[in-house]
Amino acid sequence: MIKGVVRQVDQLGRIVLPKEMRRSLNIETGEPLDIYLREGIISIEKCKLQCAICGSSEENELLTIDGIHICRECATKVHSVWESKK
Ligand SMILES: [Zn+2]
Repeated sequence: MIKGVVRQVDQLGRIVLPKEMRRSLNIETGEPLDIYLREGIISIEKCKLQCAICGSSEENELLTIDGIHICRECATKVHSVWESKK
């Protein structure tokens, strides 16, 4: 466990995540993070990539099209629906 640190919130509501914590979780610059508020505690965690259609998070099965993630199974379904309309 990395010791808690005190950080000040700036005028825009931003805080800096400690470098040691970012390094520990392999958080890269620009990476999206999920922020939750639960019972008075703010939690931050790395976003899990999910299929935009079914919600599957099998990352090695996700395809990215214009920044949208779709699993192989849904991509196949979309393709067959598209082909059936021709
Ligand atoms: Zn899917």
